[in-house]
Order: sequence, then C-alpha cells, then structure tokens
Amino acid sequence: MDCVFCRISQDKTPAKKIYQDNDIIAFHDINPQAPVHVLIISRRHLTNLLDVNSQDESLIGRMLVVATQVAKKLNVSETGFRIVINTNKDAGQSIDHLHIHLLGGRKMQWPPG
Ligand code: AMP
Ligand code: ZN
Repeated sequence: MDCVFCRISQDKTPAKKIYQDNDIIAFHDINPQAPVHVLIISRRHLTNLLDVNSQDESLIGRMLVVATQVAKKLNVSETGFRIVINTNKDAGQSIDHLHIHLLGGRKMQWPPG
C-alpha cells in the first residue's frame, strides 16, 4: 500500500517534523489552513478513527498529549487552538492514514464549514 503518511513516517518523503518518538510524529501541514497547522500521526498505519480499537486507547491519548505539547511549543495554547480529526467523505478526509489536525494562530469559525 502506498501511503504518503507512512512514507513520511519512514523518512521516504520529506516533512517539516516538529516532534517524533517511536510511535508518533508531528509535522507541519503542506497546505496550512491557519498560521499554525500541524498534523499528528501514529507511525503505525491506521486508516481513520474507525480503525481504532481498545488496544489503541493509550496511543490515541498520547497523540492528543503530543498535540497539546506542540500547541504550547508554537505559542497557541493561550490564544487557543482547534483539534480536528476528519473521518470519511462527508468530513473531507483526503488522506487515509489517521491524523489529528492542530490549528491555531487565528480566530476560528463555529460551526465549522
Ligand atoms: P484530511 O483532509 O483531513 O485528510 O487532511 C489531510 C491533510 O494532509 C491536508 O491538510 C493536506 O494539506 C495534508 N498533506 C497532504 N500531503 C502532505 C504532505 N506530504 N506533507 C504534509 N501535509 C500533507
Ligand atoms: Zn499510512
């Protein structure tokens, strides 16, 4: 399977990484929708939230902790940020490798478009 986020995880495709450990990577989105737009992924391929089971609870929790740490590092924790996980077509999921969007640095709209 050719998956761009698996390729980033394996260093076969370049990315502006801001965090990495054995299980998780965070990198800047190539087409940012806000001054801060970072993607947090697991190295292991998971298609989306529907592919997650109870054994992945700590991984998902750690991905959220990483997102929060990146928000602090990039100075959007006080001003605010949004976490988004698009799942399947209606949500606009375009890459079938689970990713958390961290968006910040500007005022967000609610409800989202
Ligand atoms: P989604 O539409 O929720 O599936 O989000 C996919 C995101 O991945 C989009 O915001 C894209 O801009 C981003 N993206 C796609 N390819 C790359 C890449 N090679 N490096 C960084 N971000 C990417
Ligand atoms: Zn993948």
